[in-house]
Amino acid sequence: MAKVIDGKAISSAMLDKVAADVSALKAAGVEPCLAVILVGDDPASQVYVRNKHRACERVGIRSVSHLLPADTTQQALLDLIDTLNDDDTVHGILCQLPLPAHLDAEQVLLRIRPDKDVDAFHPANVGRITIGNAELLPCTPAGVMEMLRYEGISPAGKHCVVIGRSNIVGKPMALLLLAANGTVTVCHSRTPDLASFTRQADILVCAVGKRGLVTADMVKPGAVVIDVSINRDENGKLCGDADYEAVSKVASAITPVPGGVGPMTIAMLMRNTVTAANAQSR
Ligand code: NAP
Repeated sequence: MAKVIDGKAISSAMLDKVAADVSALKAAGVEPCLAVILVGDDPASQVYVRNKHRACERVGIRSVSHLLPADTTQQALLDLIDTLNDDDTVHGILCQLPLPAHLDAEQVLLRIRPDKDVDAFHPANVGRITIGNAELLPCTPAGVMEMLRYEGISPAGKHCVVIGRSNIVGKPMALLLLAANGTVTVCHSRTPDLASFTRQADILVCAVGKRGLVTADMVKPGAVVIDVSINRDENGKLCGDADYEAVSKVASAITPVPGGVGPMTIAMLMRNTVTAANAQSR
């Protein structure tokens, strides 16, 4: 049976460390602050934003919410970002996605000052990740790397297969694994015979968002399976892309959903906010 990689426990240890860093910053006269922008009343986004505020509370980061109505104009949103960019007491800015359809998310993300871009979605930060000198790392892939490190699983020399190539998860995940000396294959919706690639994986990262996509026969015995996805089964229960029960019998280690990568993402957001506050107070 695979070892269950406990994202809750690992993120909790990380948050303790972040809280200590926050205390040190405060002692030096800097109060780290995260500004979160939420446009509209999407229930899932409201839950994500609430969880982010709770994490801030836990580690001592000041958090400020900007809850804007669904009919907010592009200009009003950009003006708010400009104000937050210029506010020296705000170190991190996060605009919760998805935005309502009439808003241009790309333009919004471009407007956030790169050194306050705690999601690391700005092209300047993506470029730095690509060349390997980033300070702010994309939260979900960086959370996966932290989990691997915590478990003593090095990607070096391993074949790492990432399913999914989104800008938020798949692509930066591949870059971080490559930077850690993995040999990386990226699969996507146009990949023929997905199983022929997944069966070669020493480390398999699933980031598609399709329940049941990864079955036990697609996993090499002894592989490490990291399931990033958050889906719901027919009973409304959260689940990932991998058939958890069956894959657990083949893999050497696996992340559960929930309680796997999800908590790590928020912990990395806290860490990025502290990193940003540190950099801005230098
Ligand atoms: P996304 O933007 O929808 O990207 C999905 C990717 O999967 C795309 O690259 C797509 O390929 C690929 N794909 C679709 N069908 C496929 C198939 N049959 N075989 C192989 N690849 C296929 O999603 P995302 O934002 O990356 O998120 C992925 C999942 O992670 C979602 O379930 C999301 O909820 C979850 N997530 C979790 C966290 C967390 O904190 N745990 C954070 C972010 C996201 P194409 O590029 O060819 O279309």
